[in-house]
Amino acid sequence: MKIGVSSCLLGENVRYDGGHKHDAYVAATLGAYFSYVPVCPEVECGMTIPREAIRLEGEPESPRLFTVKTRRDVTEQMLVYREAKLAELKKENLCGYILKKNSPSCGLARVKVYRGQGIVKSGRGIFAAGLVMSFPLLPIEEEGGLNDPKIRENFIERVFTYSRWKDFLSANPTPKKLVEFHTCHKLLLMAHNPQIYREMGKFVATSGAPGFHELLNRYESMLMGCLAYFATPRKHADVLMHIMGYFKKELSGPEKAEMLDLIDQYKNETLPLIVPLTLMRHYISKYDQDYLKKQVYLNPHPQELMLRNHV
Ligand code: SF4
Repeated sequence: MKIGVSSCLLGENVRYDGGHKHDAYVAATLGAYFSYVPVCPEVECGMTIPREAIRLEGEPESPRLFTVKTRRDVTEQMLVYREAKLAELKKENLCGYILKKNSPSCGLARVKVYRGQGIVKSGRGIFAAGLVMSFPLLPIEEEGGLNDPKIRENFIERVFTYSRWKDFLSANPTPKKLVEFHTCHKLLLMAHNPQIYREMGKFVATSGAPGFHELLNRYESMLMGCLAYFATPRKHADVLMHIMGYFKKELSGPEKAEMLDLIDQYKNETLPLIVPLTLMRHYISKYDQDYLKKQVYLNPHPQELMLRNHV
């Protein structure tokens, strides 16, 4: 799956000082699963390596881009490039984007904006701002955010879901296939936002009606909107209890008590999600629960990334 990335995070020497900002997690760990589309807006818009440092100036909502010492306004140069590059990226079918934090071009949030004698840390890099506007559903995160286990898990889950959705769209989607897609994602969506999940269910029930194409667009917005909500321990615990309901008759008294205890400890954040989930997977396999086996919730991303060992 294709993921856009700030080139310097992959170790490319494109920074203003001729260096890079290699990030081992992005480049190597995630690089094993992602096919990166590296982008350095500053170099690609015609700036040299090395070059004079640039910074955002003016109003945080609509800042300009200036060279620090020579005071050249390079905003137009960046905007002209940005328009063409974003059109080019539309053809790449991206499933996510990882940006370099704090950059006046790539930073997603809290970038310094100089205003008179003061500095506010609430800006967004000029390229990043265009990216967010052009790709409102695309999972976008900074490499700094990926250090937080909850943000990391959420981002990677959205990337893999977006990829499955794009595969679904490219394989001749039908109302019946949409129902199947939605059914497989039921528990995952419930863990993020049960209310949106229910609305999506009603929506999918009308998928046989005319206007299927518009319905797919609307479903895509709801899907990515739902996953943008964080799956909290309380919501995960509800989903785990829901799964447990499928074995009510099979589990012995002590087995039930053990499972409830693990869910409780997870809910109180004394155990990571992987612990109750592993036991749940064991019972799903033991009792051959076909419906549950198909649930994306159980394996939304590669287990080797160990994302649920830390949330
Ligand atoms: S932060 Fe963006 S513009 Fe700056 S060097 Fe990295 S890729 Fe290039």
